[in-house]
Amino acid sequence: MVIAGWILLGLSGGIAYAAVPPTVDQSASLLKEADSSRTQNYDRFLELLRHLDEQAAKLTPEQQEYLHYLQAWQAAYVGDYATSDRLADTVLTHSRDSVLRFKTDSLVVNSLAERSRYEDAFRRLNLLLSRLQTISDPDARALALTVATLLYEESGQYDLAWNYADQLANETRQPNDWICKTGYARLAALYKAGKLDGINEKLQQGIDLCQKVGDDLYANGIRLYLARVALQRGHSEKAIALLKSNYDAVQRRGYSWLLSQFDALLAEAYFGTGQIALSKQSALQVVARSGGNKYSESLSTAERVLYLMAKSQGDLRAALDHHERYMASNNGWLDEVGARALAFQIVQQQLLAKKLQLDTLSKQNQILQLQRNLDKKASETSRLYILLLLTVLAFIGFWAYRVKRSQLRFMRQARRDGLTDIFNRQHFVNEAEQQLQYCRKAGREACLVLIDLDHFKAVNDTYGHAVGDRVLKRAVAACQAHLRSTDIFGRLGGEEFGIVLPECTLEQVLARTERMRLAIVEVCGDPAEEICVSASFGVATTKHSGHDLRQLLVHADDALYRAKREGRNRVSVSDGRSKPQLGAVAVMAEGVQ
Ligand code: GH3
Ligand code: MG
Ligand code: MG
Repeated sequence: MVIAGWILLGLSGGIAYAAVPPTVDQSASLLKEADSSRTQNYDRFLELLRHLDEQAAKLTPEQQEYLHYLQAWQAAYVGDYATSDRLADTVLTHSRDSVLRFKTDSLVVNSLAERSRYEDAFRRLNLLLSRLQTISDPDARALALTVATLLYEESGQYDLAWNYADQLANETRQPNDWICKTGYARLAALYKAGKLDGINEKLQQGIDLCQKVGDDLYANGIRLYLARVALQRGHSEKAIALLKSNYDAVQRRGYSWLLSQFDALLAEAYFGTGQIALSKQSALQVVARSGGNKYSESLSTAERVLYLMAKSQGDLRAALDHHERYMASNNGWLDEVGARALAFQIVQQQLLAKKLQLDTLSKQNQILQLQRNLDKKASETSRLYILLLLTVLAFIGFWAYRVKRSQLRFMRQARRDGLTDIFNRQHFVNEAEQQLQYCRKAGREACLVLIDLDHFKAVNDTYGHAVGDRVLKRAVAACQAHLRSTDIFGRLGGEEFGIVLPECTLEQVLARTERMRLAIVEVCGDPAEEICVSASFGVATTKHSGHDLRQLLVHADDALYRAKREGRNRVSVSDGRSKPQLGAVAVMAEGVQ
């Protein structure tokens, strides 16, 4: 959805339409006009397509293939992939124009990704990129590089995305509208790769550039990131002002993906500033617009806001409902992203394995050759032969080791949080559910602990994000020192963490959380240590809440909320009912807030 939405916005331009009789030259210019008007004037594009289709018999074979390409694009745009595939196949089989075939291949990669066929998409993308050096047409190159950038970015391969975005930027020097699309892809990669230094200025430059070439859609796409940065830095009012002043333009454009992203961020920002009615309105708009697509980033954000809202209003039934939907949509969304990353890795592994196989074959040939030669000059070359054989074996061994190592690294990456190296949310949920199921069957008790660092925004605001990251790592290490190897520790998002402690009584868990709490504030008295941070803990036990992870999360979150309200830097325990009780070990450490 996201990928196609953006990539399919191919070229745009402003060649005037003229209803001319179709000579060969005029047909060529109509085709070109159709190509360039697809995104800025979709109605005109359709009109031209109809007109050209009626005149198809009078087009040259190459022009007919060009028309097929445009029709394939249009079919994919409206989601008719069967037609799009058929037309694209025709072009790929019959056209002699390598640039047209190249553009068609870019379209195919994109529509495969759109249908979640990521393995096929990456396989074809690899082929496409291997042909890049043979293509000099700037638009065809820009299209392929954009497809690569966004597909890698959507699959979490930020460094690769960044490389292609960079190449795209270097190749696009003229002030045409590609420079704006390129800028968008580049900035999105920058944001997602977490390279946030000076990001506001860069985003603003991107917006200015898009406005200069008249591309409002992409300018608003970039504004989305500007608003995200503002929200992340706690500037909710700024995010609201930015989103609101551009909301009408996005609505007029009718691109529902972007509109939902705007609404989701507005819901979050309004909630952050206590404007509950407006927050609810925006969140409900996202839900209404989500239609059949249950798994999207914006829906996940909206459901989370609705959950927090219902909880703060004491409507626990609605809170539970929204929490369930939030979890479902968030997991679904993460699964989607995970599936892309997995497909990428699978294709990389297959390429590597193929290369290894080819290398082995070629080395075997060389050995055979050597053997033949050896028969002739047995004595003087025997030593050389043995040496070569050993080198070859070492080489093959090295490759096999590399393949294995990259497989292991990938498995680890898919499950771990990049900053802290503990489980990511998705893996935490999977592991926690399995463990709780085991405890339920075995009739054992388990506890869930939620941790949220206190006033962490202030750490970022005072010392900067990089220092904030270091503090996060330090807090994780402090907790880890008090966990057993069977405990499941994960980063649930931002500066929130979850721990499932199986086969543990509440008393044992409280003793442990207390040690973690103290370990986090341990540095506070040290004059050499400038950053002092504390954390609040919410604890739920299966004894009171049952073995359902969602129920435990809601209760632990209630307890955490209570710990925050009671003054932070403390542990609070849920009794499994709606109102959590303050835990026996709740302690207020002096001087730490
Ligand atoms: P509270 O005590 O109420 O929890 O206050 P808080 O400031 O911690 O509030 P909240 O939990 O809402 O804020 C979380 C902040 O954590 C917002 C964001 O700036 C910061 N944050 C989230 N993820 C990261 C990250 O990966 N690195 C850094 N440095 N900061 C992050
Ligand atoms: Mg938080
Ligand atoms: Mg916090």
